Amino acid sequence: MPSSPAAHSAPIESSDLEALLADVADRSRHLAEEGEVEDQPEELPSAESTRFALALVDLDGNEHVTGDADLGFAIQSVVKVFALTAALQHVGEDLFDRVGREPSGDPFNSLVQLEQEQGIPRNPFINAGALTVCDVLLDAADDPYDAVAGLLGDLTGDEAAVNDTALDAEREGSSLNRAMGHLMQSFGNVHHPVDDVVELYVRLCSLTVTTRTLARAARFLANEGVNPLTGAPVLSEPLARRVNALMLTCGTYDAAGQFAYDLGFPCKSGVAGAVMGDVPGRFGVCAWSPPLDEKGNSRAGRAALHLLSERLDLSLL
Ligand code: GLN
Repeated sequence: MPSSPAAHSAPIESSDLEALLADVADRSRHLAEEGEVEDQPEELPSAESTRFALALVDLDGNEHVTGDADLGFAIQSVVKVFALTAALQHVGEDLFDRVGREPSGDPFNSLVQLEQEQGIPRNPFINAGALTVCDVLLDAADDPYDAVAGLLGDLTGDEAAVNDTALDAEREGSSLNRAMGHLMQSFGNVHHPVDDVVELYVRLCSLTVTTRTLARAARFLANEGVNPLTGAPVLSEPLARRVNALMLTCGTYDAAGQFAYDLGFPCKSGVAGAVMGDVPGRFGVCAWSPPLDEKGNSRAGRAALHLLSERLDLSLL
């Protein structure tokens, strides 16, 4: 049985948590001023550099938020966690014949290792790895888009929908992703037309989420693979543990070591400024602030989660 948060730590009063989140927000959101917002259509909230939110949801469903926690933005690379989960549901660990489990030490959209390593991406959380995961889903799932969007909907309790403005921008900016697709295809590691693989990937990156719904969605990983909203198994406990291991070591690209050092729990970032994480046995968590650091991770989001980890003793390490 999934354990309750109280089994792992003394219960924290709800009002204390609300105050703590507000204090963490006050202390970290100004760091956004030093970051760069990824080039995004100006009508998207994720183009607004002053947006900030923090959400913490426990396994009993108690939700604590501060800031713009209910404002929608494109999920971007955070979707790679749900795409990986869907692929593991369909093909299990055979997936790892096609994609590795090592940190890349390179930017998320780098082509460099792909040629040296015969078209096998280092891990499922860099773009090349997510494209391979999409290719696997195109084979294995009846409706590959729904395999991921439906899963996300089940985990958040909200129907997941694509933001068309984000989708147009993703399609337009996908040259590098196409290049990766073709390179992997030349090594036999992409089986479907590259256009189909990239189209699935960019649609998934354009799903709308909020800080609150991502914190909710992360909880199955904190709950031995079981969706706390419905009680339905999503992944077996060993596979959920392995997704956590991949998030801890590879979820924030070439900053994963620093994130593990500072936060000490698994997380995954995206270029719209979200960092989603989970603390096994306790919480799903998400911070959102659009300006990014040089590695493509939310600058204030990372600081907020670092502070939260220290205040609530969230590090697993
Ligand atoms: N849509 C983005 C891309 O493929 C997602 C990258 C990210 O969030 N790191 O380039």
